Amino acid sequence: MNLEQTDKTYVLNTYARNYVNFTKGVNATLFDEKNNNYIDFTSGIGVVSCGHGNKRIADAISKQVQNITHISNLYCIEPQAKLAKKISELSDYDVAMFFANSGAEANEGAIKIARKYGETKFNNKKYKVITLEHSFHGRTITTVKATGQSAMHTDNFSPYPDGFSYNAQLNDIYNSIDKQTVAVMLELVQGEGGVQPFPKEDIQKLASFLKEKEILLIIDEVQTGAYRTGEFLASNLYDIKPDIITMAKGVGSGVPIGVVMTTHKDIFEPGDHGSTFGGNYLSTTSALEACTILDELKNDGTLDETILYFETQLKKFYESNTNVFTDVVGLGLMRGLRVKDAQTLSAIITKAFEQGVLVLKAGKNTLRFLPPLTISKEEIDEGFKRLGKALETL
Ligand SMILES: *Cc1c(COP(=O)(O)O)cnc(C)c1O
Repeated sequence: MNLEQTDKTYVLNTYARNYVNFTKGVNATLFDEKNNNYIDFTSGIGVVSCGHGNKRIADAISKQVQNITHISNLYCIEPQAKLAKKISELSDYDVAMFFANSGAEANEGAIKIARKYGETKFNNKKYKVITLEHSFHGRTITTVKATGQSAMHTDNFSPYPDGFSYNAQLNDIYNSIDKQTVAVMLELVQGEGGVQPFPKEDIQKLASFLKEKEILLIIDEVQTGAYRTGEFLASNLYDIKPDIITMAKGVGSGVPIGVVMTTHKDIFEPGDHGSTFGGNYLSTTSALEACTILDELKNDGTLDETILYFETQLKKFYESNTNVFTDVVGLGLMRGLRVKDAQTLSAIITKAFEQGVLVLKAGKNTLRFLPPLTISKEEIDEGFKRLGKALETL
């Protein structure tokens, strides 16, 4: 059996998989077994924030796992405590946090915090969470129900938990709130929904309205967090103070980790929540090193320079291809190009792969870019050059 047959025989069929076998990675460049190289504008969907084969991450993990990889959360875990302090400091919010293993699990934690708040802080029980259409919050039964895409709420997995409703626009939220609404959950830049940032003033207005009404604001920063938009959190960029924030993708630079942080630091007591693997030595060591590296990159100006360079090249690319693209969208290193139709979008992704550049899709008509935050100017140039060639072959 070759690799493709083995995969198809033993792995469940949940992804439309491309059967390339990557065997080596260096920053934003991947190599397959035939030594073809690919510029990686995806970083594993915004995960490998510090680039492939990052020496500092590898050394930190290696040193840790030669000693202790895992102990139970029944004991104190030094890198977990240090990571919590680091994230709290970088966020600039007065928060405490819980560590999970994924974005969906972090969002489950956020919903549990909101539900307990709604149960214990008011005379009447509050439990309803409002989210937005085109949002994405995860694939567990609860987070898929929180996701505002009805196509994902198929009867194959019903019944779903109660208490979720969706609004098309931020402005619709004001009238959807009722006596049982406990929280509003949203992404500041919708990722899977099409790399769609919301206007800062609208978010700030909503945030202060919710504060006044004692309704929690949950910001899902699973994709936007860990400097993806240029600040540690997109919430920092929007200058708001959410009650709950979740992170995951880029935090561990490849090692699975989810974070739910809240200003309601005493909401949980032992027994309320848990996770066997969450926050273990392996994941928190990787995340602590990743956050340290990215903090340095931000402070010495490299990150802002990379963002500016990527943005400039993307805009140039857009301007010379307005026959294919209709708009440039996104923030920081979370970017997109709107494509005229869905068919052209799929063709671009296939042709781009053939030319040696990896790109993603978001929503129906957005070509999405989520490069490692450490991507070099040479890699950016080469990536757009190859993407240009891909368009020529359309
Ligand atoms: C990817 C993503 C999730 C789900 O994260 P998983 O780690 O796949 O569970 C949730 N919310 C947003 C905004 C995401 O981008």
